[in-house]
Amino acid sequence: MTHSVTFIPGDGTGPEIADATRRVLEATGVEFDWDFQDAGVDVYESEGNPLPERTLESIRERGVAIKGPTTTPVGSGFRSINVALRKEFDLYACIRPCKAYEGVRTRFPETDVVIVRENTEDLYAGIEFEKGSDEVEKLRRFLADELQSPTRDESGISIKPISVFGSERIVEAAFNYAEENGRGKVTAAHKANIMKFSDGLFLEVARQVAERHPDIEFEDRIIDNLCNQLVSRPEEYDVIVLPNLYGDIVSDLGAGMIGGLGLAPGANIGSTGAIFEATHGSAPKYKGQNRVNPTALLLSGVLMLRHLGQAEEADRMERGIAEVIRKGEKVTYDLKPTRDDPSAVGTSEFADAVIEEMS
Ligand code: NAD
Repeated sequence: MTHSVTFIPGDGTGPEIADATRRVLEATGVEFDWDFQDAGVDVYESEGNPLPERTLESIRERGVAIKGPTTTPVGSGFRSINVALRKEFDLYACIRPCKAYEGVRTRFPETDVVIVRENTEDLYAGIEFEKGSDEVEKLRRFLADELQSPTRDESGISIKPISVFGSERIVEAAFNYAEENGRGKVTAAHKANIMKFSDGLFLEVARQVAERHPDIEFEDRIIDNLCNQLVSRPEEYDVIVLPNLYGDIVSDLGAGMIGGLGLAPGANIGSTGAIFEATHGSAPKYKGQNRVNPTALLLSGVLMLRHLGQAEEADRMERGIAEVIRKGEKVTYDLKPTRDDPSAVGTSEFADAVIEEMS
């Protein structure tokens, strides 16, 4: 069966790691009909739009995309491509496996967790009121007069909405992931002791969803305690489901624990599409140097293969990547003992080594 997939190289180092990933995906023997589409600063410079309608249309038609990272320039009036994609396809679940492969230098070699981050609610909902604005003063008056909850002068306010609908579908996604991937436990992280009506709601819903999945163990942790325990006893954690902000922070914590951003993949799953991309950004300072590690996007490709029902090929590709990392010879600079190690290979040669391992 041929899979029709939108392929977005991105910008910065994106096209280099995307090309490496495409070659390895094709070497698995799975047939792809790639639809190459633009997104990022390069197409913004030529067309004035960082995310052309034709790219959205391609994803709408295919429902699956693999994407290299894209730069969000600070203060340019350029809307974030990732936010736009998340809204367009309602990408509510951000799934980030963090596994320490043998051969990676890490203080946490036991780590093998999957972070499931809610991606549409919480403090990231974009409901914000600027210090000194009419709106914030109106809101502050309402809080003080109607709710007896005064706030300090010169305050900015961000709202943290967490709904039953949003919590239910993300916790359900975490349990489904656990069931489909042979995982035994889901941990819900929150701060329900302090934020009773937002995190408290998330926890209550998580407990209800857990009852529908009696074969998977369920527990909850207060977020600060979870961070403490993750770095002291990572082997005790499996699938971790979190509201948006905690999920964002714990994703980077997890990436650090497994050896760095160059190794952390991601899948953004929504009701109308799925987009696979690395956790890291476009690392523009290395653009065009064939230097950065393609592993994070390669492993995102592995997640995409599983999503497409190609589990056997996904396992083979993951084993190939793991073997190259374990041998530690044909790996990029970030996986060498020192950053200036002359034996480090480039992005493209890393991909060649994975292809060789798979054959
Ligand atoms: P970044 O992840 O691009 O890079 C930070 C540093 O991490 C790099 O300088 C490099 O030292 C290291 N690094 C990252 N990826 C690596 C890899 N594959 N191999 C080896 N080392 C790697 O983060 P940043 O500099 O904060 O962001 C750059 C741009 O990327 C920004 O415009 C940001 O908005 C954007 N961004 C995009 C996405 C996305 O498209 N999904 C995600 C995060 C950031």
